[in-house]
Amino acid sequence: MAIEVRVAGRGNVRDGQKKVDASTKAHCDLCASDVDVVVSVTPDANGPFACKACMRMRLEAITVAVYELREGSGLPWGKVSG
Ligand SMILES: [Zn+2]
Repeated sequence: MAIEVRVAGRGNVRDGQKKVDASTKAHCDLCASDVDVVVSVTPDANGPFACKACMRMRLEAITVAVYELREGSGLPWGKVSG
């Protein structure tokens, strides 16, 4: 599995291989923003790319989902939220 990180205005690092390129853009395909750094999210690392905020949101969603569906918490449906 390949991982590529693109740093805006600097270049990219793909599987530890550094490539300096000042024309590099760091565009997040999830929130459609140009940011400082993005990382590939597919096995071939040819895009889409995601920014730190989008990755963080997904990590938090994992944490919440595992918490909500933890054993002993009862059935998730029918639960009153808020
Ligand atoms: Zn994003």
